[in-house]
Amino acid sequence: MTVASGNFIRSIVLDDLSSGRVKEIVTRFPPEPNGYLHIGHAKSICLNFEVAAEAGGRTHLRFDDTNPLKESAEYVEAIQRDVRWLGFRWDQMHFASDYFEEMYQYALRLIRKEQAYVCDLSAEQIRLTRGTLTTPGQESPFRGRGVEENTDLFERMRAGEFADGSKVLRARIDMNSPNLNLRDPVLYRISHASHHRTGSAWPIYPMYDFAHPLEDAIEGVTHSICTLEFADHRPLYDWVVRECEVSHAPRQYEFARLNMTRTVMSKRQLKTFVDEGVVDGWDDPRMPTIAGLRRRGVTPESLRTFAREVGVARSNSVVDERMLEHFIREDLKLTAPRTMAVLRPLRVVIENYPEGETEWLDAENNSENPLLGARQIPFSRVLYVERDDFMEVPAPKYHRMFPGNEVRLKNAYFIRCHEAVKDATGDIVELRCTYDPATKSGSGFNERKVKGTIHWVEAAHAAPAEFRLYEPLIEEDTDDDGDAFLQRVNGRSLEVVHGFVEAGLAGAAAYDRYQFFRHGYFSVDPLLSAPGRPVFNRIVSLKSSFQV
Ligand code: ATP
Ligand code: MG
Repeated sequence: MTVASGNFIRSIVLDDLSSGRVKEIVTRFPPEPNGYLHIGHAKSICLNFEVAAEAGGRTHLRFDDTNPLKESAEYVEAIQRDVRWLGFRWDQMHFASDYFEEMYQYALRLIRKEQAYVCDLSAEQIRLTRGTLTTPGQESPFRGRGVEENTDLFERMRAGEFADGSKVLRARIDMNSPNLNLRDPVLYRISHASHHRTGSAWPIYPMYDFAHPLEDAIEGVTHSICTLEFADHRPLYDWVVRECEVSHAPRQYEFARLNMTRTVMSKRQLKTFVDEGVVDGWDDPRMPTIAGLRRRGVTPESLRTFAREVGVARSNSVVDERMLEHFIREDLKLTAPRTMAVLRPLRVVIENYPEGETEWLDAENNSENPLLGARQIPFSRVLYVERDDFMEVPAPKYHRMFPGNEVRLKNAYFIRCHEAVKDATGDIVELRCTYDPATKSGSGFNERKVKGTIHWVEAAHAAPAEFRLYEPLIEEDTDDDGDAFLQRVNGRSLEVVHGFVEAGLAGAAAYDRYQFFRHGYFSVDPLLSAPGRPVFNRIVSLKSSFQV
């Protein structure tokens, strides 16, 4: 694996090693199993795993499963699959729920130290008394409860005696703190929900701000890397570690989350797409999930390169989605065989080509990579070309087929169209053409040139195929966090067309990747393809105006 390009987190890690502040680097990737991972998570995964690996350290996969209502074993499985597919192997796998007892004991310790109390205010009252950036908060009437009463109440919360929402455990810090996160934050809430791992064992669940630092501390994490929104939570993170008196003190570092143009990057919103039927599931090839990108045919290498090249910044920005496409093309350019596929077929009859005859023409598999070898493709009297490659009345500068014009068939001959045959409704159903035997590709023919080269497949040997062409799921970008993004769903995000591929591709296996001349990079869909009838997802088209 290539070494990650320089970034500030990497510098911190190297400094901490050389100064002796830490002996071994331990990072973690801590997803909440409440959905599938998306490409933003891929950035975090690459950063955590690569920074630790480079420094000879280790990385844990830890499920932050403290919110039972939204989490499930399906997501836990999917996340492991996705991290492995990206190419990373965790040294240890943990679940926050494994530490529930330990966390509970730490909470009791805080109560004994008079640094936590049971509060009977409702969530709404707590919110209203928290104050604002310019006004202090109000102390809860329950803030003065003594150690004994708090211990008793918290033990009874744990025993399941109280209803959801009737009580919480709060830290006793400072209702006047300029940092709102330090105004007696909630540490535990009551929820009689069934948890996918612990069942009904726990009627109380720790909040992120209490659980996360403890998880990091218990596991010996040295560098807890998270996104910028948590910068304001860092004082609370440090408070929890210090006041719980955990022997190991992890440190939190923040970096800018990945945002990308025309890409929804929130599990909650992506789940809405799934639940509302906008897509066919979390692995729909239009989804920016790792599962969707994988199914579409994107390689893990290109995602890792992308994650590395977008860099690790301290301020938020939006990455152009064409940058990802660029790295996908770069990765496939030399590795994908180049073949011809006709997506919207129009029948061509070469009238001067003998009936019943077939010849085999030489074609390179990748003109930029001789290692991929060559193949032979059939040529005979009946072919398919792309509907778009014929115009009865040519537009200005149109150099492809029109009546009387000569074009080159890639890897074959020059042909000239004489007549477009129409059906009763006036639609063109067939082109009558002639070919010039002297113009065979590779024969050195140079008496005259043509301006257009088009692709084709020979009809008798062609294999029928379905092609699925994608556009981004949303029309344009917005900062909206609500549900308005559903109004911007792109109605043209999927186009399905039926055409033909070269015979050799009839048996293509799931995830096989090809470059189709002029159409782009495609990959065989693992779920929709049938034997002899492959379905191809377009990974990315050929052209991009994006320059890195
Ligand atoms: P979402 O809002 O999509 O649910 P999240 O941050 O709630 O994302 P978690 O499962 O809590 O998702 O995140 C696991 C890790 O992935 C965290 O460390 C988080 O900071 C990181 N992460 C999530 N989204 C991004 C992103 N867009 N760019 C970089 N890192 C991200
Ligand atoms: Mg989250």
